[in-house]
Amino acid sequence: MDHAAGTYLDERVREAMEPFWIEKFGNPSALYKEGREARQALENARESVAGVIGARGEEIIFTNGGTESNNLAIFGVAYNIIGAGKNHMSVKSPHIITAKFEHKSVLRHYEMLKKNGFSVTYLDVGKDGIVKAKDVKNALRPETVLVSIMYANNEIGTIQPIAEIGKIINNYKPQNNHQKIIFHCDACQAAGYLDLNVNKLGVDLMIINGSKIYGPKGISFLYVRRGVKLCSTYYSKPGDKLHSGTENVPAIVGLAEALEIAQTEKDKESARLTELRDYFIKRIMDEIPKVFLNGHPEKRLPNNVNVSILGVEGEAVILYLDEYGIACSTGSACTSESFDPSHVILALGKPRAHAHGSVRFTLGKRNTKEEVDFVVETLKGVVEKLRSISAVNV
Ligand SMILES: *Cc1c(COP(=O)(O)O)cnc(C)c1O
Repeated sequence: MDHAAGTYLDERVREAMEPFWIEKFGNPSALYKEGREARQALENARESVAGVIGARGEEIIFTNGGTESNNLAIFGVAYNIIGAGKNHMSVKSPHIITAKFEHKSVLRHYEMLKKNGFSVTYLDVGKDGIVKAKDVKNALRPETVLVSIMYANNEIGTIQPIAEIGKIINNYKPQNNHQKIIFHCDACQAAGYLDLNVNKLGVDLMIINGSKIYGPKGISFLYVRRGVKLCSTYYSKPGDKLHSGTENVPAIVGLAEALEIAQTEKDKESARLTELRDYFIKRIMDEIPKVFLNGHPEKRLPNNVNVSILGVEGEAVILYLDEYGIACSTGSACTSESFDPSHVILALGKPRAHAHGSVRFTLGKRNTKEEVDFVVETLKGVVEKLRSISAVNV
């Protein structure tokens, strides 16, 4: 029940990857047969993912994960402005916009740019966990160079009005002489559930990774709209490629296969999970007192259930449920090593007690109604027990 943190490999994906470990192991840059085979597989994967998102092959950059793609997207834009890039453009006091509940891999890069003189707007997300398009509109300035808004939030699953925001950004006429405002969208949680067509969405940079879509971990791609200038964030060989180094061919092949499957099965699986999700939410809300749903009840991913259970610590619930073989999370996996309350739940304007008691269940392909029933029954007992031993007055 923690598929937003990571998924097992789909058997079909494993099969697609298999030949590229031992038989077809060549470096795609090599000129002989094994190299050409690897190059061909790489190019096929590139065309395949481009096809799914309505892009061209040359607009796809493979990187080693969602975090790295966010790095390349955000710093790739910034380096051009601070003068490190060959497309150097001078923007006085550059301004960038993001939302308070973005993934840490976006927020940390924004914080670094802020320290280096960029001015940053962190948009509120409102009680329902949705960024308002008009707030983006009001935040735009002549010096704005980049806007980063995620497609679906990884903790509360809320779906953002990306196409609407894209229209606003694309219609904004830059007054200074710099290139148009770049719209960056982290779509790591969206694949398999939402429409990924980059032209309908109006995005310039979009990110998808393998580990959330039953593909391999440590692989991702960044879509870069033709004409959008990024600067490489590291240099290892001449040629100024945006991402250099030997390509991880098996993982790239796996990512492409996983994305094809995700999009093919999207409608059917979304319908199945939506029903299961709503049943799950209803049972929790009906049967456990003092529980609050986090995020909009409908405008959320079909697999996301995030609740605040007052009077308990989310971490304690996770550990007790683990004893019964139930895996779920609090906050996001990325913050589970710290006991800081979730920045996402706080961004909803909820009190700290709601953040401390937040628990996320994210359903996946193999989850059944029987499992949901088992989780609800177990959760009821665990919450009762924790509340009875807790010093906190509910
Ligand atoms: C998982 C995730 C990331 C990070 O991806 P990695 O491949 O783990 O580096 C970034 N953004 C979102 C929304 C995610 O869910």
